Amino acid sequence: MSPASAHITDYDVVIAGGGLAGLATSIGLSKAGHKVALVEKYTYPFHRVCGEYISEESRPFLESLGIPFHKLQLPRINKLIVSSPGGSVVRSPLIPGGFGISRFRLDALLANIAKENGVHLFEGTKVIDMVYHDGKMKCFLQGRILESKLAIGCFGKRSNVDVKWKRPFITHRPGKLDNYIAVKYHLRGVDLDEDTIALHNFSNGYCGVSRIEDGLYCMCYLTTAGNLRSNDNSILQMENRLLRKNPHIDRLLDRAEIIWDEPLSISQVSFSAKSQVHDHVLLAGDAAGMITPLCGNGMSMALHAGKLLCHEADAFLRGEISRDELEHNYCRQWNRHFAKRLRAGRVIQYFFGDPKLTGLLVGIAARIPGVTGFLIRQTHGEKY
Ligand SMILES: Cc1cc2nc3c(=O)[nH]c(=O)nc-3n(C[C@H](O)[C@H](O)[C@H](O)COP(=O)(O)OP(=O)(O)OC[C@H]3O[C@@H](n4cnc5c(N)ncnc54)[C@H](O)[C@@H]3O)c2cc1C
Repeated sequence: MSPASAHITDYDVVIAGGGLAGLATSIGLSKAGHKVALVEKYTYPFHRVCGEYISEESRPFLESLGIPFHKLQLPRINKLIVSSPGGSVVRSPLIPGGFGISRFRLDALLANIAKENGVHLFEGTKVIDMVYHDGKMKCFLQGRILESKLAIGCFGKRSNVDVKWKRPFITHRPGKLDNYIAVKYHLRGVDLDEDTIALHNFSNGYCGVSRIEDGLYCMCYLTTAGNLRSNDNSILQMENRLLRKNPHIDRLLDRAEIIWDEPLSISQVSFSAKSQVHDHVLLAGDAAGMITPLCGNGMSMALHAGKLLCHEADAFLRGEISRDELEHNYCRQWNRHFAKRLRAGRVIQYFFGDPKLTGLLVGIAARIPGVTGFLIRQTHGEKY
């Protein structure tokens, strides 16, 4: 269909991607009185690869959006166990700690709140491109164009839009921080205290396990694409030959019941630096920069970026600041809050890839109690 014949609809803001960043931004801007469209390629509720441990720092913001914590009775998590690939263990308090909830439930709750607040939600709809033309943004969907004053990209770690825009992290030669894969299961019958998150390391990877709602546990691991390739691209073979070398993972997989027939998996995960604005499209969440999952803080950052973006975008839509000021202010805020954490996350990721270094780090942390707390502080922020 040519753009001339496509159906055109006008909004103040169009947001591509309905994960945490997109949902939070859409609710905030709609509550502020703006006409908002949110486009998500899947239909809620749906599972996605994520460790499902949310840092406590985001609780007040989620409450302000309308998440009814008092009704949900979610497990509070304030202890950490880290095991080395060989199985030695260090335990530490987890400050500020967090809580567990599946993305299946959390994202659907937020999507309902968005609809109740007047967000026009396009589910099961893919954004093909977003372009700036003559002071307006155009968002191309299949057979339809959404026009708006402002466009926001919250399409996660890697999207067809990133490929279309040829963003540098797509086109550059892959380095050590690119090309990871991740796998997730929901489990029942896990021998792990409700208040504890376990981070079990294995060669070139780590596996997080923690409680979510309804007595279930989330097990989610990240490793290199090379590990999967060298196991004939079989997840089961890789788990048997590699992950199970860590006795804690071995015991977990033997004893717990996996409640899905197939695991959920993703590939081409990259932690390379990204820009926060592309051709006047403002980017938030993983689309603007992804912190390594072992920091357990990506969801908080995605939500926080949404909050920062709402503040600046509201000022722009009310005519109080120009588009240039909006982009400048947002980038400055984003860097102030997140740039240091992302850098720290990348450094820690290097350590945790190598079995010898991980073993060494676990040994040091076991002897010097302040080390784990120090690393947690480098990757977490204040309540917002
Ligand atoms: C293995 C792993 C474990 C993790 N564990 C944790 C953890 O325990 N705690 C934590 O805080 N963080 C964790 N994270 C990080 C966390 O999942 C992300 O940082 C967070 O989900 C980012 O939110 P987002 O809104 O930016 O992106 P997402 O939640 O990924 O949402 C992006 C959305 O955009 C949609 N989309 C993409 N392209 C298009 C398109 N063209 N059109 C329409 N829609 C589109 C997608 O379908 C998706 O719904 C983990 C990440 C990984 C990889």
